[in-house]
Amino acid sequence: MRTVTTLDELHAARLSLDGTVGLVPTMGYLHEGHLSLIRRAKADCAHTVVSIFVNPTQFGANEDLSKYPRDLERDLELIEPLGVEAVWTPTAEVMYPNGYQTWVEVEALTRPLEGAARPGHFRGVTTVVAKLFNAVQPHKAYFGQKDAQQAAVVRQMTRDLSYPIEIVICPTVRETDGLAMSSRNKYLEGENRRAARVLYRALSAAKETYEKGERKAETLRQVMKDMIAAEPLAQMQYVSCADYDTLEELEIVAGKTLLSMAVFIGKTRLIDNFVLG
Ligand code: AMP
Repeated sequence: MRTVTTLDELHAARLSLDGTVGLVPTMGYLHEGHLSLIRRAKADCAHTVVSIFVNPTQFGANEDLSKYPRDLERDLELIEPLGVEAVWTPTAEVMYPNGYQTWVEVEALTRPLEGAARPGHFRGVTTVVAKLFNAVQPHKAYFGQKDAQQAAVVRQMTRDLSYPIEIVICPTVRETDGLAMSSRNKYLEGENRRAARVLYRALSAAKETYEKGERKAETLRQVMKDMIAAEPLAQMQYVSCADYDTLEELEIVAGKTLLSMAVFIGKTRLIDNFVLG
């Protein structure tokens, strides 16, 4: 396993790889969710490249960039046994050298949900993912369903910019009590960790209501809102019942549908989602 930092090192490592290359972009502080993406890439491709980069441009001014958990040594220990070819750990200077001024933006899909709650977030995401794609030139790239809108936005960007890359979306890996794994779960202690289960509970309740035959989207949103409101340590930012492809809010659930939410547990912002239909 080669660990590379500069673009020159990355290009040299990439040139030595013959056959299909899979890319797994991450911000590090790895957990089973990330490792499931890496295992899937390993199974699909001749070679796997993992990137670890806490991308400053996707964090808002009041967000947790400086506090985002980092532990490169531990990450490399977790990746080593999986047998990947290269781990790319660029610095902010490598990705955004002095004078940097080029951005990639996806339009309609980035407006609702996370895009509305985190202005500028997806501009940072699509820009860094485009740069990762250009540098690594993978055949396939692996993303988690946990970040459903990110997956949709990356798919759109890939299509719109004609990248010859297959986007593979992998299922959300959860703790035994249903909490979706996230690097930010590290912030949750004691009562907050218990309260964080409310996201999974609320999504499960809405899904159950849907499975009993309810098709009014507002009713499903209300089921999630009520459950979150009943948890004193939780503060809802949004809940959504939207068309899976366009992410537009629905009145009636008919086709493939995304239930999603963002909830603060104390100062920690968590997101989660279920797909219906
Ligand atoms: P991050 O390091 O949070 O930027 O995540 C890197 C990749 O891992 C993204 O494609 C995420 O969607 C994915 N990911 C994060 N958490 C999970 C999870 N619990 N299950 C599956 N994939 C995940």
